[in-house]
Amino acid sequence: MIVHMKMSQMTIIVKEWVAKYLKKYESCISIENIPNTGGDHHPSDYESWLDFWCKKTQKKVIPPCSNIECSNKAKYGGHVKKVGDNDKSSYIIPICQSCNQLGDIYLVYGNVKFIPVPKD
Ligand SMILES: [Zn+2]
Repeated sequence: MIVHMKMSQMTIIVKEWVAKYLKKYESCISIENIPNTGGDHHPSDYESWLDFWCKKTQKKVIPPCSNIECSNKAKYGGHVKKVGDNDKSSYIIPICQSCNQLGDIYLVYGNVKFIPVPKD
């Protein structure tokens, strides 16, 4: 019971929670979706932008959505750009249907592979 805990035990629990929380957020990357990319057709060697991403990263299974707040499976290879970075390039990352429609900045896992959108 939490009411019977000593302060020191409480402190340890809080510290562990903060450490876990920071570990989740420390390496993540701020991104935003690039609007109006629905007409940007994927390279013809691939079935979709998600297929493009999977082949480029040699993934055999559909990855989870890249958004750290989301637990869906990816449905698309979403067009995104990094926020607060000098890098203005467009990238493809795996993303689910609902996150593909986000209009705000969101965070993705630091280990997500950003595959540059090929210039035609
Ligand atoms: Zn998602």
